[in-house]
Amino acid sequence: MRRFFLISIMLLAFTIELFSKTYHWKKGTTFLSFLRDNGISSKLYYELDGDDKELLEEIRTGQSYIVTKNRREKTILIPITDELQVKIVKKDKNRAKISLDPIPYKVVRNSIYLKIKKSVYKELYRKTHSRVLVNSLKRAYKTLNLNKMKRGDIVKLFYEQKIRKGKAISSPKLLASLITINGKKYYSYLADDGRYYDSLGKEYRTVKKTSIPYVRPINRCIISSGFTRRRFHPILHRYKAHLGVDYAACRGTPIRATANGRIIKRGRKGGYGKCIIIQHKNGLKSLYAHMSRYKRGLRVGSRVKQGTVIGYVGSTGRSTGPHLHFGMYRYGKAINPARYVRVKRHQEITNRLKGKEYRKLRKKVIFYRKRFAQIKKIGNNTILVRNEKYPLKRKKKRV
Ligand SMILES: [Zn+2]
Repeated sequence: MRRFFLISIMLLAFTIELFSKTYHWKKGTTFLSFLRDNGISSKLYYELDGDDKELLEEIRTGQSYIVTKNRREKTILIPITDELQVKIVKKDKNRAKISLDPIPYKVVRNSIYLKIKKSVYKELYRKTHSRVLVNSLKRAYKTLNLNKMKRGDIVKLFYEQKIRKGKAISSPKLLASLITINGKKYYSYLADDGRYYDSLGKEYRTVKKTSIPYVRPINRCIISSGFTRRRFHPILHRYKAHLGVDYAACRGTPIRATANGRIIKRGRKGGYGKCIIIQHKNGLKSLYAHMSRYKRGLRVGSRVKQGTVIGYVGSTGRSTGPHLHFGMYRYGKAINPARYVRVKRHQEITNRLKGKEYRKLRKKVIFYRKRFAQIKKIGNNTILVRNEKYPLKRKKKRV
């Protein structure tokens, strides 16, 4: 098959050399005038469908096209895009046929091995001169910040490029990649749906923020005391209620408003030390105590948004160490904040391949596993050249 193919290519080259001539599409030429000038019936044009007629409008001024003649017929090939051409075969004025044919091209697979010095994106671009490839890599690892890759981290990738006469046509396609960040490996494979998945068919997560009514007032903390109406107090050495939640955190940790509201108190309040109270809707209030200091610019009457920093963790008032005492009240009555407050999490939507699509991906995983191991040796060489492949199949139109 391959030999037959080569022979036909050689024959074609031979024929072209002998009988073909290159022309350029002149300014102002319409497809109809072109047919007329070449002695072809305009019927050929009128019998095309709408889509094809539109495509013919895409022939650009200056476009080179080839006319080949032999004793029996004349063939005209006019490229419309990098991948599609109009083919007209004329036997005589009333015997011509037109078709939209794919332009044959080769698909080359290349591999890249890159050891990061400083910036993954810059260095990958320097190596490939392709923004598309750089962006594809970003897309392949949506949730990983590749900017965090450091000196010595590794990128291995395979991509596909369509070429014709040694020249790249259209953009390269990232097929599979392996990145190593701090010794940890991440794989990504292009599936048939055009998305990238890891070795187990899971897409790198898309993060979507969700709104929740009350958020935890500090990030990264542990609850040192929960809400209870009766508990043993370490300083007073007796049972006492704890009408709030204590979050242990370092002095100076920012404290955030749990929800939108208006500040109704900003000042000292006995055992609570420096505190802020915010009035929210539905008769709810929140209290933040033992602050080291308030956020500058806030006063009674200030409106705050959820998540706004209002002050900083401290140990003012009756306190054994830096922590935030956080209380919530409904119509003046202490309620358990844990019932209202949620840790602000991002909702993670994960797309996972199943069934046949999953099995297909696994085949790719196995295919590339070996090749990733060899990639350092083969470096940036072409590792695979496929024979001519046709990107589109279109029905031929005959007149
Ligand atoms: Zn407390």
